[in-house]
Amino acid sequence: MAQQIQSETKGHWSNSTIEKFKKELFKKKEEILNFQHKIEEHGIANNSEPGDLADKSEEVELWLAKESVNMHVSEELKYIDAALSRIMSGDFGICESCEENIPMNRLRARPDATLCLSCQEFSEKAQASSARRGAGTGLLTSQYMK
Ligand SMILES: [Zn+2]
Repeated sequence: MAQQIQSETKGHWSNSTIEKFKKELFKKKEEILNFQHKIEEHGIANNSEPGDLADKSEEVELWLAKESVNMHVSEELKYIDAALSRIMSGDFGICESCEENIPMNRLRARPDATLCLSCQEFSEKAQASSARRGAGTGLLTSQYMK
């Protein structure tokens, strides 16, 4: 792909490091998809049982628990997909602000991270001060970003 020429001037990650990380991401994605599949199967089996009222409330609780797990895994899937598309475009692991490498342990926690820690902190501070100055919507956005 043509992006490879670009990425050589930008990041300091070696291709083998990126390849390794890409494999990890694909593996994790597969695990998550399998997990989601299991949840769905379990859900169908559950719904096929009529059950009395007591069972119903248990069902609701189970459903809610599954929903929150589902939300969590789809959130993680989103991170992974974002990271994979950044790998494709050659931007992966590079801070958007200072163009330094984002530390690997940060990338493992948040593969879609686009800022290194110091730039992230800086932008959070900037957001917090703009939220103080500005309207309520600014505050809401900065909460959402965390
Ligand atoms: Zn940075």
